Amino acid sequence: MIVKTEAIVLKSKKYRETSKLVTFYTKRYGKINGIIKGARNVKNKFGSSLEPLSYVMIVFYKKESTQLHLVTQCDLLKAFKSISQDLDKLEPALKIIELVYKVMHDEEENEKLFNLLNQTLFAIETNNRNFANLFFLFEIKLGEILGYQYNFQNCGKCGVDIYNNGDEVRQIVFDYSKGSLLCVDCIQYSVHPQKMPVRIFKILNRIEKTEEIDSVTNLIITRQDGNEIGKFLFDYLRYHISSLKELKSEKVFSQLF
Ligand SMILES: [Zn+2]
Repeated sequence: MIVKTEAIVLKSKKYRETSKLVTFYTKRYGKINGIIKGARNVKNKFGSSLEPLSYVMIVFYKKESTQLHLVTQCDLLKAFKSISQDLDKLEPALKIIELVYKVMHDEEENEKLFNLLNQTLFAIETNNRNFANLFFLFEIKLGEILGYQYNFQNCGKCGVDIYNNGDEVRQIVFDYSKGSLLCVDCIQYSVHPQKMPVRIFKILNRIEKTEEIDSVTNLIITRQDGNEIGKFLFDYLRYHISSLKELKSEKVFSQLF
C-alpha cells in the first residue's frame, strides 16, 4: 500500500553504502522507520529534508510484514531555520524529538501527539524568549496524552484547593502515584511523595493550565527553578515509563553551558 503523510524527522543515520535509515513521527501512522535509497549519493533529490527536526511530507510503501518501510518521496514543508541557528532554541527542540523517539512505540497512530509536536516546534521557531518553558509544557502535555495525570491545584485525596486553603505557606507534596498534590491533612496518604517549594508547584500549575501555547514563553523562571522543574517532570515521566533513559541531548547541552 502506498501512503502519504506529514511527518517530523526524529532521527537520521547512515545505512549501507548509499542509503539512510530515518525515523519519522508521522501524522497518520505514528513513529515509523524508513529506508531512503540513494539518499547519500552526491546527486540526490532529498536535500536537507532528511535532517532531524525537518517537517516533511513523505510517501512510502507501507508493508504489514515489516517495521522498516521504503520511503520514495520526502518533501520539505518547513525547515525550522531559526531553531537550527540558535543553541537556546536547539536544546529544547532536540530534547523534544529525542523524548518522542524514546517514549513512543512504533506504528501507533496518535494525531494529538503529532499536533502537539508540530505546534511546539513552531512555537520554539517563532518565539523569542524562555524556550525552556515550551519543553516543560511539552513534557506535561505528552504525559497527559499518554494518560498520566498532573494536578498542581487540588489535593488528590480530598480535592481541596491547595492555594485557597492556607497550604501555600505550609508543606505540601506532589504524590507520583496520584499525579497530584496532597494537602497538609492528606500528606499521610502519600505513596511516593515529592517535596518542592510551593513556588515551584505554582509555576507548574500555570504551565499545566496553559491553553495558548505561545503564552508560556511569557513566564519568567529562574535558572535554578528551571533545573528543579526539569528534573521533576522528567522523573515523573520515568516513574510511569521505567525504560526511559536520560536524554542524550540533555547531557550534551549541560556540558556546553
Ligand atoms: Zn487533602
